[in-house]
Amino acid sequence: MTLNVSTSQLQAIHYHAEADYPAECCGILLGRVDGDSKELAEVAPVPNLRLDPARAQQVIALEDPGRESERNRFLIDPKEQLRVEKDARVRGLAVLGYYHSHPDHPARPSNYDREHAWPWYSYIIVSVEAGKARDTQSWVLSDDRVEFNAEVLEVTGETQVDGGRTMIGKTDAMPNYEYRASNTQD
Ligand SMILES: [Zn+2]
Repeated sequence: MTLNVSTSQLQAIHYHAEADYPAECCGILLGRVDGDSKELAEVAPVPNLRLDPARAQQVIALEDPGRESERNRFLIDPKEQLRVEKDARVRGLAVLGYYHSHPDHPARPSNYDREHAWPWYSYIIVSVEAGKARDTQSWVLSDDRVEFNAEVLEVTGETQVDGGRTMIGKTDAMPNYEYRASNTQD
């Protein structure tokens, strides 16, 4: 499948990732399935529960609450997930996947990401280096849950850009990413 996103949706994700740096941000991708593609309609930022260890503890048993690194993990509050999902359903939208950031780490899924993911859904990861969004890649877990495969992220709706970089064209793997520097405040 292909995940179709607009430049403004991508920007919204980048802004969130940069705003929450050096912590890890997360959010939910809402939209519709159209044939062989997922059409992203809305980006719903949600709080990373890892940043609230006391509340996180109520949701899952943290291995070592005092030492959990919120920089390398994200956790969406199930209540928040339900709220977003219900709200989306009313508008005919479904959950297509999730996004999160990797502060000062590549936009590749960690083992933790793999263990907490489900097949079919899109997992967008944004690497943030020194506070700036860098690479963006969408991943889909294989049906046997053994590995993540890169998903084609098609970005539509040209220009107009933040102070970072805008991805253009169709991409299917990180090394092939094309970036164009913003013509404004980069
Ligand atoms: Zn991750």
